[in-house]
Amino acid sequence: MSNFVDGKLTQAEQSDRHPLVDPVTGEEYGTAPASSAAAVDAAMRSAANAFERWRATTPAERQALLLRVADALQSRLPDLVRAELRQTGSRGAANEIPLAGDQLRFFAGAARALQGLAAGEYATGHTSYVRREPLGVCAQLAPWNYPMMMAALKSAPALAAGNTVVLKPAESTPATALLFAEIAAEILPPGVLNVVCGGAETGRMMVEHPIPAAVSLTGSIATGVDVATTAAASLKRVQLELGGKTPVVVFADADLDATVQGILTGALSNAGQDCTAASRVLVAEELHDELLAALEAGVAAVRTGGPDDESALYGPLNNADQLARVSGFVETLPDHARVVTGGHRVGTAGYFFAPTIIADVREDDRVSTEEIFGPVITVQRFRTEKEAVRLANSVVHGLASSVWTTDHARALRVSAELDFGCVWVNTHLMFPTEMPHGGFKHSGYGKDLSVYGLEEYTRIKHVMHRFA
Ligand code: NAD
Repeated sequence: MSNFVDGKLTQAEQSDRHPLVDPVTGEEYGTAPASSAAAVDAAMRSAANAFERWRATTPAERQALLLRVADALQSRLPDLVRAELRQTGSRGAANEIPLAGDQLRFFAGAARALQGLAAGEYATGHTSYVRREPLGVCAQLAPWNYPMMMAALKSAPALAAGNTVVLKPAESTPATALLFAEIAAEILPPGVLNVVCGGAETGRMMVEHPIPAAVSLTGSIATGVDVATTAAASLKRVQLELGGKTPVVVFADADLDATVQGILTGALSNAGQDCTAASRVLVAEELHDELLAALEAGVAAVRTGGPDDESALYGPLNNADQLARVSGFVETLPDHARVVTGGHRVGTAGYFFAPTIIADVREDDRVSTEEIFGPVITVQRFRTEKEAVRLANSVVHGLASSVWTTDHARALRVSAELDFGCVWVNTHLMFPTEMPHGGFKHSGYGKDLSVYGLEEYTRIKHVMHRFA
């Protein structure tokens, strides 16, 4: 594979290459550049040149072009799905392309309706108004869990607001971001959307580069700290969508069947490789045994398998490191914790992991405090509403949470107390494009999706005219 810069595929000269591995088989199927400083510089310069023209387009002109990009993605659906399946092994890959199209369409329109203060005479004899302007070149760093959807989710608001983009997909999943850029380049001017391949080192070069005005990362907390620290040296604007440790708070009056269904889908979809996975169940003591038995029975019917296996709910973990990480959590469980089901790799090829339930965990256990990012559900009990909220909020993460109850007043009370950027009530893993997605605490700052996500890519300028 090659970088996509200035409207064309480019060999990233002087760059090393790294292997691309099929997570279904564990076999290498290609290579991609580990882009060098020179390759990053070429992409930044291309984006900076393109910005001069792109910023001068009207929102309506950009909307028309981005809507065409969304249509073009849809017309290339089979190619995109094939590429996504190859690099993720997940049949859910097919859903990502319509989602990407929806995000492009939303932001294309939203950029025509930016909000702000009314112009007026806030000082005698002077008229003030506010301009919302694009930032410039945006460096964007994406993870591997939904590669195509992430490429659109990151770039669409930036482009719609009049910025140009240098996007770096994760090292293991560059294919669909590259294809996206190639498809978009038939419609957008050269340099507006550039994609460079590589891993952490290339990412750091992007953050250090003098051209970008802003950096947006979706990734782990450790990466977020590094990106924010590096960006601070040149005071770049930073937006961080980082890891989560999502509590699923189940009260004794919850609808058991709906809750079990919500947990299984929310925890196991995409092999649990979701920053909001329903992975940390906190359940009222009275319901604990019944819920655990129902989850165990539900998991017994769940299979993992490759994209050709229609009976499989989810596919492989994305890479060998992730398989080792998820296995490591189970191997280092404290004695008091109990693996109810699963806890092991499935097969010897690829990176499949069995659906897993771990019970009797305690608040300070590593499985209770760190993001696992695999098909693993932990179950812990609470006695009172107050304890439920305290346990839920006890982690450093603050991305998403869910509450399961039929008591409306309790749902309202607990939603206000939970220290998370999203609270779902009697549902989980829902992301309408109109609603903001983003965390508190160590899950980062800033929002993706929604008009708030669009505003991340604008700056506010006060202009004042004296007329008397
Ligand atoms: P990661 O942090 O390793 O990498 C994310 C991106 O940053 C990649 O493109 C990577 O190459 C790049 N990168 C890594 N280190 C860097 C550095 N020091 N400087 C600059 N760039 C660097 O994450 P991952 O393993 O690809 O993805 C999994 C993580 O992403 C999980 O923690 C998950 O929770 C998080 N995630 C968060 C959200 C969200 O919306 N909050 C969504 C999906 C995934």
